[in-house]
Amino acid sequence: MDKSQIEVIGDNHIGTSVKTPMRVDAFKHTDTEKIENIQFHFSKIMEEMGLDLTDESLSGTPYRVAKMYIKELFYGLNPNNRPKISTFPNTYGYQRMLVEQDITIDSSCEHHFLPIIGKAHVGYIPKNKVVGLSKINRLVDYYAHRPQVQERLCLQILKHLQTTLGTEDVIVVISAKQLCVSSRGIKDKESFTITLDYGGAFTHVDKRTEFFNILKTDGD
Ligand SMILES: [Zn+2]
Repeated sequence: MDKSQIEVIGDNHIGTSVKTPMRVDAFKHTDTEKIENIQFHFSKIMEEMGLDLTDESLSGTPYRVAKMYIKELFYGLNPNNRPKISTFPNTYGYQRMLVEQDITIDSSCEHHFLPIIGKAHVGYIPKNKVVGLSKINRLVDYYAHRPQVQERLCLQILKHLQTTLGTEDVIVVISAKQLCVSSRGIKDKESFTITLDYGGAFTHVDKRTEFFNILKTDGD
């Protein structure tokens, strides 16, 4: 890809697949080795920018950035960190919609490595299985902590929940602010992006309307 193509893709946020594109040797190095290597390369970036790494305030930055990438911002790249989502039989026979709303989205755009911050709202209609509610939040958090595009994040959460819950009747809505739109490029401070995807019963407009009406209710 030449530089002009990179510029075009960078601002249009094209994602290429539902799966996060990963190298086959993605986990050849341990986390400790990854942190050491990123620390080295990030110090080179800082040096190239003319920063003096002997300064007390800057000297620890390459290590801090490396550790933050592997252990915090992008921990969701490693499948070993995927939350264990145990399901329970739907013994009480709950058959109506269940909605978990205002789940925090703390993600990063994969084209600029800048924050994507917002909220996710998830709804599902249980069949035979239900999950502990906090598990939905953990799953959202896991997929958010990768370099992402918002469309893919939405789909990854949807597909995972459909598989785990054994039903297509799931809807995921994400409303988020992209710092690469507000802090650079067009520098639009007010706009935000909404993505949604759904399956099963939510393909019917009345079910989606019911879901969106529930979202308007606040939690108190
Ligand atoms: Zn971006």
